[in-house]
Amino acid sequence: MRTPHRDTGLPARTRRILHLDVDAFLASVEQARRPALRGKPVIVGGMPDTRNLVMSCSYEARASGVRPGMRASEAQRRCPHAIFTEGDSQAANGKREEIVRLLLSYAPRVEVSSLDDFFVDLTGSTRLLGAACDVAERMRSSILEETRMPVTIGIAANRTVARLAGKLGKPGGVAEILPGHERAFLARMPVAHLPGVGHSIGGKLASFSIHTAGDLALVSREVLFASFGTLGLVLHDRARGIDPEPIEPTHTLDDTGVLVVRVPRSIRRDSTFEPEEGRREQIEAMLSYLVERAAFRLRGHGLATGSIEVRLAYVDTRPSHARKSSPDPSRWLSTRRALPAASDSTEELWLHAHSLLSGLPRRRALVKRVGLTLLALRGSSGWQGRLFSDPEHESGGSEGSPRSHADRHHQLDRAMDALRKRHGFGLVLRGTSLSLKLRYPLGKDGFRLRTPSLNQ
Ligand SMILES: [Mg+2]
Repeated sequence: MRTPHRDTGLPARTRRILHLDVDAFLASVEQARRPALRGKPVIVGGMPDTRNLVMSCSYEARASGVRPGMRASEAQRRCPHAIFTEGDSQAANGKREEIVRLLLSYAPRVEVSSLDDFFVDLTGSTRLLGAACDVAERMRSSILEETRMPVTIGIAANRTVARLAGKLGKPGGVAEILPGHERAFLARMPVAHLPGVGHSIGGKLASFSIHTAGDLALVSREVLFASFGTLGLVLHDRARGIDPEPIEPTHTLDDTGVLVVRVPRSIRRDSTFEPEEGRREQIEAMLSYLVERAAFRLRGHGLATGSIEVRLAYVDTRPSHARKSSPDPSRWLSTRRALPAASDSTEELWLHAHSLLSGLPRRRALVKRVGLTLLALRGSSGWQGRLFSDPEHESGGSEGSPRSHADRHHQLDRAMDALRKRHGFGLVLRGTSLSLKLRYPLGKDGFRLRTPSLNQ
């Protein structure tokens, strides 16, 4: 038994999530591999005489007012001694791998979230490793020492709050929001900082005089759903510091120490209604959103699913062998189905998920949670060849034929995935996830998309 530490008093299974963000990633890569640049204002991006934008700038350059996204010419005006350089994507990939390796030496559940940020799940391992804030501090200093990359670490009980906590620690620090303090922490935070709130939604919220996460947390779910569809429900949760999205390990080290991309055995998505939900269309919309998220992940791994499980928890759902301390899973009502053929199509998965939901006992009690798991995952195949190699199908398939219908769904999935990879998940949502009010038509296939510009 280890000595007690800061996390010892937390209830068992309290989620301890770390979010690591590399400070000025591309500029830091250049400073790490070229000692002459250390301590100097470094700007990665277009050369100063062009109209190009600053992609990344060191903190020395930021001190002169340079920011990512600024015109290179403006950056040079503000910081005449800045050293402009092109980024090196190979070197950047190398640094990212070094960091992932180091993180895996601390904890097995590591998710590479984007180019330069990572999640580590320490849930259940702080007894062994020490308090999350101590682990984070050790990670931060060993990453700096061994890879020369400065990182900031945010710690909280979920992804959203950990990410936001990190902003307090920038650059090069560690910041923690203790469990139970999420809502107070978020109360005065500008609503635009919440993941999922971009210009379009932020502008609309501002027109309702909603400026902080605290303001947003006070709006009823009904109003948010009517205005923003499922995303409104998700944002409502986030504004209250609720975010059940799991950490999904993306990498692992094999027996010989080689870093390999990890393929998941199942993909699970859950959402909690706070307060509980009685309206069927909101429950269905949330399930549709979960299907979208899971299917996006599925295709990102090049997988298809052979089986789907849908779960529902009513407020009064109790396990038969009720024990007060019993963890959550036994409180689900669940049903699953093997698909006739493995699929990676959002539309197909949604149709199955919807019919599974309809098969669950329908009661008057309010719904506390809804969830979905994709199981029996396998490599997906065939589609790409079919899309490009068989022009006869495109001209020959009549409008309503199942093949052309499926092809169009598949093309839509691919187009949306590409947009989401570039601009973030919330950029586009399927019509089934949305309310009636904010729908825009897209193409002939009957789908309606909305395109708020969402920041990550
Ligand atoms: Mg960064």
